[in-house]
Amino acid sequence: MHFPAFDDFYQRLLFLLPFAANFRSTDFDYKSPERWPEKYPHCGGSEQSPIAISRHKVISLSLPPLVFALYDEFFDELVTVKNSGHTVEFQVPTTIYGVRPYVTGGLLQDCYDAEAVHFHWGSPESKGSEHVLNGRRHDLEMHIVHRNTKYLNLQEAFRYRDGVTVLAVLFKVVRSGPIFYQPGLTEIFHSLLHLGNFNATYTVQERLTLGSLLGSLDRGNFYTYKGSLTTPPCSPVVQWHVFGEVLPISHQDLPKFWNIRDERGRPLLKNFRPLQSQENRAIFHRQHTVPLQQEHLQELIWL
Ligand SMILES: [Zn+2]
Repeated sequence: MHFPAFDDFYQRLLFLLPFAANFRSTDFDYKSPERWPEKYPHCGGSEQSPIAISRHKVISLSLPPLVFALYDEFFDELVTVKNSGHTVEFQVPTTIYGVRPYVTGGLLQDCYDAEAVHFHWGSPESKGSEHVLNGRRHDLEMHIVHRNTKYLNLQEAFRYRDGVTVLAVLFKVVRSGPIFYQPGLTEIFHSLLHLGNFNATYTVQERLTLGSLLGSLDRGNFYTYKGSLTTPPCSPVVQWHVFGEVLPISHQDLPKFWNIRDERGRPLLKNFRPLQSQENRAIFHRQHTVPLQQEHLQELIWL
């Protein structure tokens, strides 16, 4: 007996299985990151992230600024935030101009489309940023993941050294002080109340811009270095940009992250990867105030 449709189904399934295995990087645990290399060899390789950044061990450069294209244009659809079991995240929609916000400039040679936003946090007892800045771990870290537009999708970009750039924003909790204005973030933090369960989603009812997640952040002050994804498969394909200014998060918003639960219903706490070795990597620091050193810059770019 022969069932063409049945055969076709199985052929498709056999074709798709290896891809399903490759793309399913969800079987990892923050309790035992030292075991990640068993399934994901890059996690035991070089140029890994996060790292500790100290202002005394960086190279100050008069880099061109990063360009934040379409960051202040509204998305053409509402943002849906999801509990993935490892973080809360959302895919960046296109703007009203039909394309996503993107970054270029700085050390970047290409344009990088914003793809997704997610967070890393600690617990009621401990801070949870991934990067440590000037000896301090902060309360929360937001990552805006961007794909080099010369690659079709993130999976393809993960295979190339210039595939991805991530903007990292650190937050510290404040109990009082001046009122701060980050309307997009306020909406995202509110959505956490609806995202306790694994796979839960919540659609933010306000239209957002990507820039509204950065508030009044000084976008001209950043550290940049060559590193990796901080979750499996840990591909060493990321040009990191860690902003020097630490943004405030209110003491009412931060605990909302601690209500997020993982796939097994356990509280998802401390979802940050331990610090990795800097090895011999250079970390560059851009500030407005550094005098122009064009010749020095050219030498470093060609390293
Ligand atoms: Zn991340």
